[in-house]
Formats: sequence, C-alpha cells, structure tokens
Amino acid sequence: MLEVETDSLATNESVPAAAENPFAKYMPKPQVNYPVVPEHQQGFLKKVYVQTWGCQMNVADSERMLGLLGRMNYRPTEDVNEADFVLLNTCHIREKARHKVVSRLGELRPLKEKKPDLILAVAGCVAQAEAKSLAREVPFVDVIFGPDQIEELPALLETLATRGTAIGDAPHIHAEFNKEGYSIPVDVVPPYFDEGKHEVSKFINIVKGCNNFCTFCVVPYTRGREKSRVADEIIRETEFFVSKGVREIVLLGQNVNSYGLDLLDETHAHKKVSLETAGTLPFADLLYKVAAVPGVERIRFTTSNPHDFTPGLAAAFRDVKQICNAFHLPVQSGSDRILDRMNRQYTRAEYLERVGWIRAVRPDIAFSTDLIVGFPGETDEDFEETLSLVEEMKYAFIYAFKYSPRRGTPATRFKEQVPEAVKNVRLQKLLELQKRETERQNAAEIGLTREVLMLYRNRKDKGDESTWYGRSNEGRLVKVHSPRDLIGKLLQVKITGANATALEGHPA
Ligand code: SAM
Ligand code: SF4
Repeated sequence: MLEVETDSLATNESVPAAAENPFAKYMPKPQVNYPVVPEHQQGFLKKVYVQTWGCQMNVADSERMLGLLGRMNYRPTEDVNEADFVLLNTCHIREKARHKVVSRLGELRPLKEKKPDLILAVAGCVAQAEAKSLAREVPFVDVIFGPDQIEELPALLETLATRGTAIGDAPHIHAEFNKEGYSIPVDVVPPYFDEGKHEVSKFINIVKGCNNFCTFCVVPYTRGREKSRVADEIIRETEFFVSKGVREIVLLGQNVNSYGLDLLDETHAHKKVSLETAGTLPFADLLYKVAAVPGVERIRFTTSNPHDFTPGLAAAFRDVKQICNAFHLPVQSGSDRILDRMNRQYTRAEYLERVGWIRAVRPDIAFSTDLIVGFPGETDEDFEETLSLVEEMKYAFIYAFKYSPRRGTPATRFKEQVPEAVKNVRLQKLLELQKRETERQNAAEIGLTREVLMLYRNRKDKGDESTWYGRSNEGRLVKVHSPRDLIGKLLQVKITGANATALEGHPA
C-alpha cells in the first residue's frame, strides 16, 4: 500500500515536530483510476506495494506511479508478502531519511531471495542522489530511478520483463534529469483517483526542482532546476478532481512562488526572468485561475520561499476567498547571520515585512514555519534570535529540525559544526516554546464557530457513532462525533474543547 512515513513535516494528532507530517491524516490512501479489465483477464492482475517517505511532492509522485501502474494491470496491496512489485519512493532531505530506506531494503532482502520474480525498485531523491552507491550497498534491487524518470516506469518494467530479475544482476540505474519541460498530461493518463472512496483534498504538483541553492539543502541536486507545468494542464487536473467531488486543492512545489518563471524564460529567448523583470506574476495568475474553477472551495499551497514572496501574492490572499486562512512560510532561523550563511536571501526584517503584507489583508491568518537548529556556526545568541522570532510571530505550529549535513551541499564544508548534544537541547527548547503557544491558541478557539472541511474517519471506529476529522480554514485539526458520514462536508462547528494537538466540537 501507499504508506507514508514522513520525515519532514508534522502530524495532526500530536504536537507538530520533526519526523511528522501535517497532512498525514488526510493524505489520500492508495487509489488507482483502474482501467476496466475484462473479467477473463482478472487473474493476470499484479500487486504493487508502495512505501513513501518525505514531502507531499513524493506522495504526489507515488500517486502518479500508481496511476501509471494501474494502467498496466497493477493493483495496490498493503501486504508486502503478496506483492509482485515493491516500490520504495525515498527522501534524501536528512540523513535519517536515507538510513530508513537502506534498513527497509535490508528487511526486504529475504523476500526477494524467496521470490526472485519480485521486482524491487527504489525511486525518489535517494535514488537520484546516490544511485551508484545504493547499487553497491543493495545490489539485490532491480531498478533505481530518479523523480525525473517516473514517466519511464512502464518502459522500465518492460525492460525488466525481458531481462529478468535475478538477484545476481546489477540494478538498472535511471537517474538522468529530464531536460525537457515538466508535463503531466491529464488526457494521456488521468490523475490518480479512487472512484470508490470519497476523496476531499488532492495534491497537484505545479513546479518541480528548485533554483535557490540554500546551503543546507539537497533539493536542487536531487530534483534539478525549476520546471513548471503549463497552467492549462493544472486547471484541467483541478477540473477533473472537482468533477469527482474534491473540494480542496493543494498546489505543490519546492518554491511555488516562482512558478511559471521558467515558462516565461522560453518566450524571452532564455534571458533570466526574475520576479522583478517578469512584469507579471505567474503564480498569482495561477491562483486566480484555480479559484475560478467552479466547485473549488479551498486552496492551499506549499512551499513558499519568503525571498520570492511578493506584494502581488499578498493581494491574492486579499482577493481569492478560497485561499485558506493559513500560510506556511518557512523562515529556518531568526538570526540574520545564520540566514546569510544559509543563503536564504532575506533578512529577519524582510521576512517580517512579508508577514506584514499578508497580515494587512488577513489579520487573523494562522502562520506556520520550518526551522533548523544547530546550523554550522549557530551560536547561543543566534539560537536566542530564533526563539525570539518564534515568540514574536506567534505561529500556529512549527516544524523544527536538527541540521543534518548532506553530502555535496556547501554547509557540510562549513567550519564550526554544532555538536549533536547542543542540537538536541536547542530542538527541545524550541519545541517546548511552541507547544505552549499552540496550546494557548487552541484554547482560545473554544467557544468560536469555525468552518471545517471534514476529511476522514478515525480508522479504528467500527460502531454507529464515529469520530470524524477535518480542518478549519486556519488549518487546525477538528474532531467531531457523529453517527452520520461527514466526509466531504463543509460544516460550521462550534468548538467545545482543545488540547495541543486538536480541537473538538459539534455542528453549530
Ligand atoms: N522549499 C522549502 C523552503 O524553502 O522552505 C523547503 C522544502 S524542504 C523539503 C523542507 C524543510 O526541510 C526545510 O524547510 C528545512 O527546514 C528542512 N531541511 C532541509 N534540508 C535540511 C537539512 N540538511 N537539515 C535539516 N533540515 C533540513
Ligand atoms: Fe531547498 Fe532552499 Fe530550494 Fe527550499 S528553497 S527546496 S530549502 S534549496
């Protein structure tokens, strides 16, 4: 099945922290837009087990692969032992993420030895960044392919069908970057959707890669330069999802703010188009277009690098009512010295200026952020500045990480690496500070009535009265008890209880 082991984000059920995911609970379960397979061929159906680590983009990529596989008669399974194909979609953002993949492969080795026909594949950012060393470390894997090779999956499987999957054969490696643009044509393979399940919120990838080169980050090396999908494709995907009953669209990219600049570049004969020179703001335009699709009730987008956040985008928060009243704006550090060493290209004051633009049009918007503690050279004073920024910002929640050196990135070569013990203390201190703020904000919700989009049912519930979970416009998790199926409903909920992780209420 599509199992999400997120490393970079936070969960809904516990205090958001590193190694958790904010969307985990409403991430779509594996579904495939099955082609109709004639009954006499049903016996030929094969099973694929997909395990996904990392960010929402990886989740969207796994869905894309399940969509492609669905058309090749593969169906998802939750039981790895009955799988014909095991696909690990990996994350390389921190060292821990890589370790998890290698240790999972170790667990899978006996299965591969027992079933030599089993196809074992490693996809995603670890595959991209470390294909060769991975091939040496886990030679029993059949194929290793990067995120730019997803569309090649059917061809890769055909090659394996001819070549076989014997354990002694060296893994196939396909980790080239696709130099073409970024296109997922909706007409060729319809987006991934389960007709039998009520999906309410869907991710749509709008831009891949990143041009920013923050000194700690592997993304520009594993995902390549920014490449945007044309707006028409994104709108058609939105229309498709809405026609299926989806009410919330989450637009994804490493830096959605610079969406479309590469497309302008082409028409400008490869002159470097920046936000200053573009004369138009393709991402803001896209937001207006998505909002104009009838049936789109809510729009979220992630991630926004503050350095590319413009007044034009703040205007979209004012004009587009479907843009949720919650915004994730990763700051990474409160210290200008560290921001400079990170190559974030903004200062603390510039970050706060952008926050000011948004608060001017949405005074009660809920902000969240990403922070790294223990970046090389971070002193106690720098860390105090991070604490003071968090206090000043009054975030709804944060995702905080200990700095993890990534091979090939400039920060690994920086002197003054911070000891692990210091990183641990700082992380703890930061999380405790935020926990108090989250509890305070959640408690202040009691007595208010909030519009909540209901997303899923508590998986353990069996009886008549179930617990249903949704999100308020501000992104807070809200629990509602009801004998009725609430999924997909936009409810007015009176908030009656709160803790650090969720609110509770009843339909008003
Ligand atoms: N593009 C986003 C931005 O600019 O804010 C970030 C996307 S990254 C996949 C998610 C988060 O992982 C980052 O915001 C950062 O806090 C964290 N991260 C990235 N590289 C890291 C590293 N080497 N060590 C620790 N955390 C890291
Ligand atoms: Fe990584 Fe920086 Fe690009 Fe975000 S903006 S993906 S942190 S390089």
